[in-house]
Amino acid sequence: MRVFVASLATETNTFAPLYVDRSAFEDAFYSPPGTHPATPTLCSAPVVAARARAAAEGLTLIEGTASWAEPAGLVSREGYESLRDEILGQLAAALPVDVVLFGLHGAMVAHGYEDCEGDLLARARAVAGARCVIGAELDMHCHLTPEMVRAADVLVAFKEFPHTDFLARAEDLVDLCLRAARGQVRPVTRVFDCRAMSGFMTSREPGRGFVDRMLALEGKEGILSVSVAHGFQAGDVPEVGTKVLVIADGEHNAGRAAALAERLGNEILSWGRAGAGPRHYRPDEAIAAALAIAGGPVVMADRWDSPGGGVAGDNPMMIEALRAHPDVPAAVGALWDPVAVALCRAAGAGARIPLRFCGKAAPTSGRPVDAEVTVRAVTADLVIPFEQSLVSLGPAAAITLGSLDIVLASKRAQTFSPPAFTGLGIDLAAKKIVVVKSSNHFFAAFRPVAAEILYLDTGGPYPYDPRRVTYRRARRPLWPLDPHPWADMDRAAGGQA
Ligand SMILES: [Zn+2]
Repeated sequence: MRVFVASLATETNTFAPLYVDRSAFEDAFYSPPGTHPATPTLCSAPVVAARARAAAEGLTLIEGTASWAEPAGLVSREGYESLRDEILGQLAAALPVDVVLFGLHGAMVAHGYEDCEGDLLARARAVAGARCVIGAELDMHCHLTPEMVRAADVLVAFKEFPHTDFLARAEDLVDLCLRAARGQVRPVTRVFDCRAMSGFMTSREPGRGFVDRMLALEGKEGILSVSVAHGFQAGDVPEVGTKVLVIADGEHNAGRAAALAERLGNEILSWGRAGAGPRHYRPDEAIAAALAIAGGPVVMADRWDSPGGGVAGDNPMMIEALRAHPDVPAAVGALWDPVAVALCRAAGAGARIPLRFCGKAAPTSGRPVDAEVTVRAVTADLVIPFEQSLVSLGPAAAITLGSLDIVLASKRAQTFSPPAFTGLGIDLAAKKIVVVKSSNHFFAAFRPVAAEILYLDTGGPYPYDPRRVTYRRARRPLWPLDPHPWADMDRAAGGQA
């Protein structure tokens, strides 16, 4: 059996003024054929999963390019087309193949392409032929489009947010596609459109139990796979929103798949606003709450300025809030400021310098901080783990401002795990407050060291309330932009917004 695997992924915040070209992919993660590391990245786990199966079963694996750009704004036409055509050319050269596997995100938007993944999958189908099994792993924060469903035989999305299961779901994808290619199963996909933006965390209820039940449904009664595409509300595209995808074995189980997708979708809708997540604290509220909690550190997620949502991640609002509490030992990181990092590295560890930092990449970045700081530590590459992957924040520096330690990084990436701080010598146990630039991916790695976890409402720039931004391309009606067409979402199970 001949299997081709490649990966092309980013998440496009169509509201963000951070434009992406090919160099953004090459700077973040770019692995030409044969150079993919042994560890997966968030969206290239099918490469690693396919290698393991190929080695175990003697399959011929042909690796194409794998590339990722940190979530940001619109991708240039040339950037997308050149990477797409590079991969399609590799696929054409690999023919004949029985299985094509992709690691995708599912929310990439480029100039002229509102659905990059639908375009890529359809072109891959045209190259590989109707008999080839085509499968893709998706981030659950994808726009699950009819074009993607039509072109692929198997789509499997992450189930967990934080995305602790990207390798496990890649293994599911590879397994299903190999079974389909061997004629052991006949995947049939049905999708239920919730007509809502209803993403949820799976690190807490009701999402936690829901995912456990999704997992328990698989492999029984003709159901092969269950995915929820939560959607990505910062992408203004026609198919934005939450959808449930169920893959059944054979046409005779298609009705069962459709019914299950509808049942699960309506369960998500029944949560209403309670599904949206935890309480969010304004900066001063969060600091007051942290000071009332015994021990430390209290970890606070600045989730609306997380690079993972396609925004800059350089807003110093929490630094300013903490400077008003000079007695509170705190750390904030990692903020994106390659210019300040370069100055700190040139000055060297131990130097005391006047520094202007953060608050400059976008109109929503706030105002820069001017301060006399001590360069605490510098590194040529700050590498931090995220589950089985290793993420580079590039050259980085830790600076000290009174009782506050601040991590500045040259690459935009979320603060996935404590080594973002400890890698620069910052002892989190000595801190009362630790602020991370992450929406929820920090959760699994920080929970063991946190006295408490609080989520911040710093006001943006991520469009966390869809009703406050103007959507021009989203299909309507779509809750919460419109009243829900069949579920009374605003009266559904209580809870904070
Ligand atoms: Zn995601």
